[in-house]
Amino acid sequence: MSTHSGGRARRSCLCCTSTSVDLETTVVSPFVAYRAWNGPAELTRIAFCADGGFRFFDRGLSADESARSYRGYRTEQYFRDRHRFDPFYTPIHIDDPIIVMYKT
Ligand SMILES: [Zn+2]
Repeated sequence: MSTHSGGRARRSCLCCTSTSVDLETTVVSPFVAYRAWNGPAELTRIAFCADGGFRFFDRGLSADESARSYRGYRTEQYFRDRHRFDPFYTPIHIDDPIIVMYKT
């Protein structure tokens, strides 16, 4: 498993710039890895802001990765792909045909 160098945390919070940030190693979701860079999951760090409670991944997405990640968002293909990685991800259909919610 590869490790992305990240760099968004840099010991300060993206939201409030507090330097009271704790970092823990974690793994990017395999679904996100598939969607964003069509590759394996990577190790990264998650940052926890002690002052504001904001949490964010050290590894951000490039503009291209972000675009790929949201391409066809919540289409039938998106749902099939998501369900393959996360079987618990289930659409909840309610009477209004326009509204489709997803339980995670
Ligand atoms: Zn903060």
